[in-house]
Amino acid sequence: MKRKIVIIGSGFGGLAAAIRLQAEGMQVTVLEKNAKVGGHAYQLVRDGYTFDMGPSIITAPDLVQRVFACAGVRMGDYLDLVKLDPFYRIYFHDGSVLDYTDDGEQMKQQMAQFNTDDAANYDRFMAHTCQLYDAVITDGLGSTPFDLPTMLAFLPRALRLRALMPAYNFVKKYFDDPRHRFTFSFHPLFIGGNPFRAPAVYLMIPYLEKTGGVWFCKGGMYNLVQALENVFVELGGVVETDVEVEQIIVENREVKGVMTKGRFYEADAVISNADLLHTYRELIKPEHRKKWSDKKLRSTQYSMSAFLLYLGVNKKYPQLKHHTLILSERYKGLIDDIFDNKILSDDFSMYLHIPSQTDPTMAPEGCESMYVLIPVPNLESGINWEKIKRTYTDSILTFLENDFGLTDLKRSIAVLETFTPSDFKKQRNNHLGSAWGVEPRLTQTAYFRPHNRSEDIQKLYFVGASTHPGAGVPGVLLTAETTVKLVVEDLVE
Ligand SMILES: Cc1cc2nc3c(=O)[nH]c(=O)nc-3n(C[C@H](O)[C@H](O)[C@H](O)COP(=O)(O)OP(=O)(O)OC[C@H]3O[C@@H](n4cnc5c(N)ncnc54)[C@H](O)[C@@H]3O)c2cc1C
Repeated sequence: MKRKIVIIGSGFGGLAAAIRLQAEGMQVTVLEKNAKVGGHAYQLVRDGYTFDMGPSIITAPDLVQRVFACAGVRMGDYLDLVKLDPFYRIYFHDGSVLDYTDDGEQMKQQMAQFNTDDAANYDRFMAHTCQLYDAVITDGLGSTPFDLPTMLAFLPRALRLRALMPAYNFVKKYFDDPRHRFTFSFHPLFIGGNPFRAPAVYLMIPYLEKTGGVWFCKGGMYNLVQALENVFVELGGVVETDVEVEQIIVENREVKGVMTKGRFYEADAVISNADLLHTYRELIKPEHRKKWSDKKLRSTQYSMSAFLLYLGVNKKYPQLKHHTLILSERYKGLIDDIFDNKILSDDFSMYLHIPSQTDPTMAPEGCESMYVLIPVPNLESGINWEKIKRTYTDSILTFLENDFGLTDLKRSIAVLETFTPSDFKKQRNNHLGSAWGVEPRLTQTAYFRPHNRSEDIQKLYFVGASTHPGAGVPGVLLTAETTVKLVVEDLVE
């Protein structure tokens, strides 16, 4: 008899875990509340424009390849990945520009225009982040369940590498110019971390990008989602969409299966890829949760959210690169407003994704498909997004047209859709509408992050952004590796 596994949710973490377990010979069923799989990597297609709604940057393609390999297939047979150069263009508030690339000499040349000492420190900084990368990726800490012995063994190395100090303070030791301090410390934002308090271990990301590249999947990120779904189904896995899990059934502290509207799915193990708080609070009765009581859940700190504009524009803007950052003068002040003050500031820092710069099939000829992502507070802010989304949209477009110089932007818009923190809550069950889940701060990292195996309920596991090692596509692929090791350890005699 094959072991029956139910996975709640079909984000990258859920799909990767599904493939790995199906390949181990188990019978896996993925239940997804939405009409299509993909979670944050959902796709929107309108009037000839294709938008990836969430993740847009592929890093660590070898981690993606590992998922295909465990199914015995080659990633290259399913996907066409294109390496980007530069990785990002960064526009600073004073009009200066830096094209962020993996070419060290080009980076140093550009940095020398701002500060020659900083440029001279680039190699030392990268060598230091390489050591962080080695700990997490090469030595496998990111794909190993982070229990207490692992934590104690890692501690001396972490202290030696200064991996626990705030990321921004780590960067300050190498660079003086505020533009460089931003450029090398912002990466924790990619995974929902506040650069001023996320531990420096997350600065392995600049090295991960440098060594593995920044890639785009031709046709869009959703092609990767579909490829993973296809591989899973080819292995004999089952995907059911438009099926929302309403309860995880527990008897004598052990999982028995899940209930949806009107149907019970029996399971030897359940893996939740849904948000951690949603899973514990909405799907599991309080009497089964000793550690993850409502009180403990209330004290769990959730990350920021995002406001997104999807714009189909019948005009080209060559000053924009595939990935473009446009920054406000304020860095710490803006981050404080988003993470702690939970207010919507008048100034903006934003990330623009323009895949039509690389792949013309993403938009009609002569047009751009673009999204604008503004990091904003999560729903603890009390902001009524339905009420303000139109005026907020208008202020962003006015800024881009008048202050940044995207001439005629407003009148060139053919498609305009928004996605707000309230949509993250409604459409994806994200607690507080957080786009990145449990915040990666020191007290919620590694051993202190919600574990991949539930402490309260046997045969219940987690994959995805809120468990170890954390958010981001590489992060959640690693959560799948970690969690699958535990499931196999527990279920295979
Ligand atoms: C706007 C945005 C941009 C990003 N950009 C990047 C990037 O460029 N590169 C990068 O590496 N990372 C990026 N990230 C982060 C990355 O996308 C996420 O960390 C990752 O995709 C999360 O995957 P996950 O496995 O946690 O699942 P999720 O994507 O969170 O999916 C969980 C799934 O569970 C489903 N679900 C929830 N509750 C239930 C239920 N009760 N029953 C059934 N189904 C349920 C949801 O509908 C959802 O489909 C971005 C994130 C966002 C939001």
